[in-house]
Amino acid sequence: MIRKKEAKKIVFQSEKEMPMMPMSLGSMLYNKTGAWRNIRPVVDLENCIQCGICWKFCPDMSIFIENEFPYVNYDYCKGCGICAEECPVKCIAMVEEEK
Ligand code: SF4
Ligand code: SF4
Repeated sequence: MIRKKEAKKIVFQSEKEMPMMPMSLGSMLYNKTGAWRNIRPVVDLENCIQCGICWKFCPDMSIFIENEFPYVNYDYCKGCGICAEECPVKCIAMVEEEK
């Protein structure tokens, strides 16, 4: 595991030095990508059937299961909406972030 003090700061001097594709710099522990989000998933636990499909489909592994119910880790959820799309009972609402 890379500790925060050990992580190198990568600086590009020009556009030409930059990689040809998007990349995340450093450890994901410090890149809290949830800041990119403008909408957030909100799970209605009353109607959740505990199928775990949202957990399986989340591309960022931002959903964790506790006592058989899904919870979102908003530090890393980017708000893509895949969980809401895949939920079979549509109990995940995508809600606009407050500014
Ligand atoms: S909105 Fe996207 S990133 Fe966030 S929990 Fe759902 S599937 Fe994961
Ligand atoms: S996909 Fe929907 S019903 Fe299934 S665990 Fe997730 S929130 Fe609950």
